[in-house]
Amino acid sequence: MTSTLRHWIKSFTLFELLKGLSVTGRRLFSPKVTIQYPEEKTPISPRFRGHHALRRYPNGEERCIACKLCEAVCPALAINIELEEREDGTRRTTRYDIDMFKCIYCGFCEEACPVDAIVETRIFEYHFEERGENIVTKDRLLAFGDKHETMVAQDKAADAPYR
Ligand code: SF4
Ligand code: SF4
Repeated sequence: MTSTLRHWIKSFTLFELLKGLSVTGRRLFSPKVTIQYPEEKTPISPRFRGHHALRRYPNGEERCIACKLCEAVCPALAINIELEEREDGTRRTTRYDIDMFKCIYCGFCEEACPVDAIVETRIFEYHFEERGENIVTKDRLLAFGDKHETMVAQDKAADAPYR
């Protein structure tokens, strides 16, 4: 049988189409491995490293003491901190920026922080719409921390045995 004749037979019997549909048929009743994202979501580890947040103590005071360890340890040079000393002798940041385009989500900043101020939350669904929004400022980091403090505290507690 010539290759041309074989080609014509396959074309008229819809062989390739039926071959493809047979794969669909075989998979039709097998267990599903896909999910309907974003309505359905897969479990995420409490150690997942997503969007950063700055935390406060329950009395509303910022945890960050402007020690700059996170800035020093950041391998991507993504953190920029400026600070001032208060009248009571404590130090606080006047500027705390993270460039999310530079960040490689290594988690070193969180590990270096002595007061659990900077954390990486489990939030990975975020985007930027305007130029410059990738520089996440202190106000935004604190607001993010306020919004997700319950989740952050739970994740910290769940992660404690591994630290
Ligand atoms: S996660 Fe890593 S790269 Fe990102 S800001 Fe923290 S230390 Fe820098
Ligand atoms: S976030 Fe933590 S490590 Fe970074 S400056 Fe503040 S206290 Fe220091």
